[in-house]
Amino acid sequence: MRESSKLSGKMIFNFLTIFPELIDSFSNVGLISKAIKKNILEMNVIHLREFTDDPQKRVDDKPYGGGPGMILRYAPISKGLQSLENAGHIIYLSPQGSKLNTKKIIQLKDYKCITFICGRYEGVDQRIIDNLVDEEISIGDYVVSGGEIASMVIAEAIIRRIDGVPEDIKSIEEESFENGLLDYPQYTRPELIDDLKTPSVLLTGNHAEIDRWRRKMCLGITWKKRPDLLKQVKLTKEDDRLLSEYIEESKKNEI
Ligand code: SAM
Repeated sequence: MRESSKLSGKMIFNFLTIFPELIDSFSNVGLISKAIKKNILEMNVIHLREFTDDPQKRVDDKPYGGGPGMILRYAPISKGLQSLENAGHIIYLSPQGSKLNTKKIIQLKDYKCITFICGRYEGVDQRIIDNLVDEEISIGDYVVSGGEIASMVIAEAIIRRIDGVPEDIKSIEEESFENGLLDYPQYTRPELIDDLKTPSVLLTGNHAEIDRWRRKMCLGITWKKRPDLLKQVKLTKEDDRLLSEYIEESKKNEI
């Protein structure tokens, strides 16, 4: 049933989880659903409880050495992985992994087949991480209850970069982080609402002026909200001018 991504050219995501319904709920909406219908994406959800020999279908056990919580056992996960025709690149979602960012998403996109191991409870037996996993990835410095949402964050971030999935792949080039900056603000109809105006430059139809304004806003907003990002971007002389303009205007409350 699971054809190799090399043959079909499509992206394959496999998920090992004890909550298959969580992953299924994502398959039916938005870009993920669209990509599946267009045969650009295949999603296989592996229910770990199908790979346990426990009569009660338990996949977890108490930690050696004592302590709170339960640990996902080695065997259901290793058997779940063996059941896959192609496991590809194996990721364990973990708060201890390297922190996710755009660079990592671009790297992952090239794998074509990725298997996500979704932890639960206190996590998984360490031997899974040591022997079966290619890398651990974290979605941020906080702890959620399971790897399902974390795996879908990665899956969706990859899928939206694939040709044929978004309406216009070029739109991605202008998004936050793509060029090291945050995105510019957007407005839509009506022009005036609750006494709040749309910036007049956006109504001029002058695309050179609009581009200039948008670049100024990208620089200014990044300076204001994420100065750490701005330090890593090589600014041109024109960028320096635009940023100074933004800073001056914001001091005078014109922005
Ligand atoms: N005891 C673990 C620790 O402190 O490192 C946390 C376990 S957490 C409650 C259960 C599962 O949620 C983890 O095994 C992992 O798969 C997932 N998870 C939690 N936080 C995560 C994060 N920031 N990034 C990725 N996965 C996460």
